[in-house]
Amino acid sequence: MTITTDFQVLNPPQRLLMGPGPINADPRVLRAMSAQLIGQYDPAMTGFMNETMARYREVFKTKNQWTMLIDGTSRAGIEAMLVSMLRPGDKVLVPIMGRFGHLLAEIAERAKAEVHTIEVPWGEVFKPEQIETAIKKIKPRVLAMVQGDTSTTMNQPLEHIGDICEANDVLFYCDATASVVGNHLPVDKWKIDAVSIGLQKCLGGPSGSAPITLSDKCADWIKQRKKVEAGIRTVDHVQGIEPFVRSNYFDLGMIMDYWGEERLNHHTEATSMLYCASECARIVIEEGVDQAVARHQLHGGAMLAGVQALGLKVFGDISNKMNNVVAVYIPDEVDGDTVRNQMLLDFGIEIGTSFGPLHGQVWRIGTMGYNARKDAVLQTLSCLDMCLHANGYKGPKGEAALAALAYYK
Ligand SMILES: *Cc1c(COP(=O)(O)O)cnc(C)c1O
Repeated sequence: MTITTDFQVLNPPQRLLMGPGPINADPRVLRAMSAQLIGQYDPAMTGFMNETMARYREVFKTKNQWTMLIDGTSRAGIEAMLVSMLRPGDKVLVPIMGRFGHLLAEIAERAKAEVHTIEVPWGEVFKPEQIETAIKKIKPRVLAMVQGDTSTTMNQPLEHIGDICEANDVLFYCDATASVVGNHLPVDKWKIDAVSIGLQKCLGGPSGSAPITLSDKCADWIKQRKKVEAGIRTVDHVQGIEPFVRSNYFDLGMIMDYWGEERLNHHTEATSMLYCASECARIVIEEGVDQAVARHQLHGGAMLAGVQALGLKVFGDISNKMNNVVAVYIPDEVDGDTVRNQMLLDFGIEIGTSFGPLHGQVWRIGTMGYNARKDAVLQTLSCLDMCLHANGYKGPKGEAALAALAYYK
């Protein structure tokens, strides 16, 4: 009997993912995902939900009660935040420093908000004064900005932005998908009202779950837009006084009722992703959130030292670079795609290309999550060194991994 290829068992190739995300999942996370399912209202399940909330409070360094998961990739978290925080016509200020700032503006526009943007060139970050001036002029309801934008590798300093928002009665939302755990993000200390993240960067998981946290102030605002579905509504449910959220799936009011005491049915929680998200947080807490940031700083630093020793020019303002990703200009004498393909197909190591204005100009190399490790850094640098020289590179040879080793000493 012949078996057609359609019925072959799934067997992805061995890869070391050293791009800007996704990265290889931690084996402990993969194991957690394969655990058996249980029912939605099983006390074990609601217990896991509460435990997940508690774990992400630690990851975010917050006391926010409303710390929970949105089912979907990071973009689902962004969309849930913006569509729930912004009524049609509400003003939102979006400072744009890369691709993901444009994404926030695009999602806010679809939510029919009045979108105002300010921009800095790719490779730079905003000064707090620039944001303060724009807030004073525009008087938005919400400031929506990215912390770490993988498209440019920049990490926007946020420590003074919360005070500016508080003084001007603006809700502060941040997409920290790429930066969380690789860079400091004390949510309460920095007075950030709403943060959404994903698992596939420094948390060492696959994409598909978006942890979020909401301050009480932000949650109270969203609850004023409350709308309970007819099929589950009781006489005790009171509809909110503000126009309801235009999305059902991403209505954070309903999602709070589902994760809260009432356990009011909304979607069926994506149980395997909840196991996964919870395990990602557990691993980080076990290591220590600050220690995890220090690990990203160490291995990101070694990677930076390595690419510099290889003679590659680093893109952007290095003093504001995220710990977990570096972008380097592709040398003129080599073909970028040929080098990347050789790394992938001959050595099984993936590095990233780029978007928009940087397309074809830089490679992005990540050291994040499970792959923020010495062996992964040294293998990637040796391989890049080899593949550059196999394809006509004229710069230094054999120096990259040695420089990283020296950095670790
Ligand atoms: C990688 C990244 C995302 C990813 O969004 P997905 O929906 O998970 O693909 C979002 N925001 C930022 C800032 C990122 O770097």
